[in-house]
Formats: sequence, structure tokens, C-alpha cells
Amino acid sequence: MKRAFSRKNLWETLPRPVKAVAGRSLGWVSPEWLLGRKFRTWLRFLNRAQYWTREVATAYQVKRLRRLCRLAYEKSPYYRSVFRSAGFDPRDLKRPEDLSGLPLLDKNTLREHLEEMCTVPPDSPGVDYTSTGGTSGSPLHFYIGADRSAVEYAHLVSGWIRVGCTAHTTQAVLRGAVVKPDANGLRHEYDRLLRRHYYSGFHMTDEDMGRYLDHIGGLGPCYLHAYPSSIIMLARYMERCGRKAPGNIRGLLASSEIVYPQDRALAQRVFGVRLYSDYGMTEKVVLGAECEGSTDYHIWPTYGWFELLDSEGKPVREPGKRGEIVGTGFINSVTPFIRYRTGDEATYVGERCEACGREHVLIREVLGHRTQEMLVAGDGGLISWTAINMHDDTFANVRQFQFRQDTPGWAVLRVVPAAGFSPADRERIERRLREKLDGRIQFEVELADEIRLTERGKTTYVDQRIKIDHGPASSGG
Ligand SMILES: [Zn+2]
Repeated sequence: MKRAFSRKNLWETLPRPVKAVAGRSLGWVSPEWLLGRKFRTWLRFLNRAQYWTREVATAYQVKRLRRLCRLAYEKSPYYRSVFRSAGFDPRDLKRPEDLSGLPLLDKNTLREHLEEMCTVPPDSPGVDYTSTGGTSGSPLHFYIGADRSAVEYAHLVSGWIRVGCTAHTTQAVLRGAVVKPDANGLRHEYDRLLRRHYYSGFHMTDEDMGRYLDHIGGLGPCYLHAYPSSIIMLARYMERCGRKAPGNIRGLLASSEIVYPQDRALAQRVFGVRLYSDYGMTEKVVLGAECEGSTDYHIWPTYGWFELLDSEGKPVREPGKRGEIVGTGFINSVTPFIRYRTGDEATYVGERCEACGREHVLIREVLGHRTQEMLVAGDGGLISWTAINMHDDTFANVRQFQFRQDTPGWAVLRVVPAAGFSPADRERIERRLREKLDGRIQFEVELADEIRLTERGKTTYVDQRIKIDHGPASSGG
């Protein structure tokens, strides 16, 4: 899978190093400029908007919701019929709460009605097909505008700035990118345009991790941007071997998986710096980010409309009470997600942060979303499921899938086919996974009728039978 430098897939796949020649000729250009005008405009806007009063934020949200609902009403046959049945007219929307007359949107409804939900034909220019695993082990496919990443990325950078990392700051990145070895066998690639050093999250033996840390130590001031599970693998390795953290790492940026309190404590102790995380999802309905002085997630009012609902569908407004996160995203105007059930749960904290004064809805203790599941390579190294996960059509025509592993270096990928599944689908899955796993784990695809829930009633992506010593916490998820 060859990827070129592209602004649109910045966050989904992260930019890959461009050709050295382009890098040399553009080396003096600021990353903010390279990320485009839309990114710069949004970043400036968010740097102000984060301090809005609740009234200003609500007025903004009403405007965005009305626009989204009008679009859905005018262009999407599915929403037109839903709005009519509910007696909802987007022009009457006066406060965000007016949405509560509409039914919730769950993943199955989205699967069944995807084509009629779209506001433009899915084959239109500028539309991407993307997917997520959701929480049920079943891939969820939908369409989204190709220009989404500038807005998404501006939100992320605006959060990182709170802990000192700007668009200009060097990052050492350990995520899902496939990184080939350089002449010295080090799995490292450098994108000089965005000042990012990529290392391979698939290659995390003690020797690999030692080499990464040596290399990172020579980068000058930088932030380590990684999955929580990768940060924890590094921290445990350093603790086990009595290795000191490179003193030039200014902070840890953790995303795409739940951060458990004990993992945060371990990472901050071993690295001696702040771990900063955000909460978001591929469906892009809600984005939360920590602030300078708190680890509660501050929900961005500019990204989507956030609801926390109890088991009866009533809003949770009492601090300490838990509910399910339901979101209406402002970013995706191709497949509007209106009152979308994320399947994630969180504890309600309040509407104003004592530490920073921002008037954002605050939540903590998010569960259910992207747990830290692991595969074990032949050499005992761990590979995070999040790094393997594909946000493309790899699992098209698949209802559910799950790795089952009882031997290091070997796994069975159980696949529940959907209608239309053909040998070509199987071949594509095998080919793309092989490329990602790079021989570290051999696997065989096995077709199955169903994938059973765990004892806790959840489906996971990895049915892990190997006892992983000191693995990242999986409790509570
Ligand atoms: Zn705060």
C-alpha cells in the first residue's frame, strides 16, 4: 500500500515521508503552511473558541445543528423520512436539546441504511469510504468528505498546544504506519516537512525499543506521539532494564485507545513528563481533550453536539453518574451522524473546568472504546490491535472478525462473511494484513458463522489465550 503525502489522510493514516528531494526543497517551509489554509484558519478559530462562554458556544452549536439537519432533510432520503415521522422541522431548531425528539442512531441502522443516509452520491468526487471497528467486533463502513482532516487535525493541535506541542514541534511517532528498516536496520523514517520521526509499532522487541529510545534521544526537544499501549510497552521495558527516559522528550501524546489510570501513572513516572490524551473516534461525532491542569476530557463544542444518556435515554447531568456517549458530528456532511450511539460510556463531571475555566462539558473514565488488545509475535514482542486495524475497505463484505491466538507468532483470523463475500475479499484481507504484520505473526483466515461474546457480553478483536505478563491493563473495559 503505497501512500503519498496527502493532507486529507493526515490523521487517518498519518502522513508518510515524502521523497527526499521534495523534503530538501521545502525544508524551510513551516508545517502550518504545508497543512493548508483551512487548517490555519481553523487553528486560529479554535484557539479563541476554546474560551467561549457557554452561551456563545451554544449559539454556535445551534447554527451548526440547524445547518446539518437542513442538509440531511433536503438531501438524505433516510433522514427526511425519520424527521417527518418525528414531526421534526430543522427550521424550528432553537436549542440543541430540540434534537431529543429524534430517534438515536445505532450501528445496525447505519449499516442497513447507509446509501440512503448520504447527502451526495457516494461516488462523488471528494468522498472517501472509511471504516471503523466500533465496539462490537463488526466493521462499520461509511462515507466522509475527503477534506475532513484539516478540521480534525486543527482540533488535535489546539489541544496539544495546551501542553506545549505546536504544529512546528518535532514528534517521535509510534503508531500504525508500516515503517521499513533504514540502512542500519533501524525501523525509522523521517518526514522533514512535518518534522515527524516514525518508528514501527509492529516491531517492539527489547532490542527494537532500545534502538528507538537511543534514536529519539538524539532528536532534540520532541514529543512522543503513540498509542497508550505502545507507551506502556516502552515504559515497562525501561523499568525492566533500568533505562532512563531520553531527557529531550517534553511530553507524551496518547490517542486512539483508552488510557487507564494505572498506565498513566506508570508512563508519567518512567518518562518523567506529562501524558496528554484525547478521546475521539473514526465516526467523528465527539472529540474530547485534556487541559493544562486536568485529565478530564473537555468536549469540544466546535466538533459536534455531545449527549450523555442513561439507560432510559435521559440526559445525565449529575456529577458522578455514568451514561452512554451520543454524538451529532459537525465534520461529516456526507453521511450525517445525528444522535449517534457510540457505545462508549463515561462519567459526567460538569460543565466548567475548575483548573482552566473553560466552559466545556467534562467527562472522565471513558470505557468501551478501543481497548488495548494485543497480539504476541514469535519473539514474544507485543503488537497492539490498534496498530493493525484498517480504516479502509480491507474488511468490506465482512460482518465480524476476530483473531484467536494461543501460540506466539501464530494466529487464526476468524471472519464472518457478509452477503457478497468472495475469494477476492479473502485474498485482499490476507494480503493487506500480511503487509502490516510483516512476518512477525503468521495467520490463517478461517470462515465462521458467528463470533461469540466474551463472558462480559462483549466482542473483542483478539481472543487472546496466551497469558501476557505485565500486559496493559484490560480490566474495566
Ligand atoms: Zn480544564
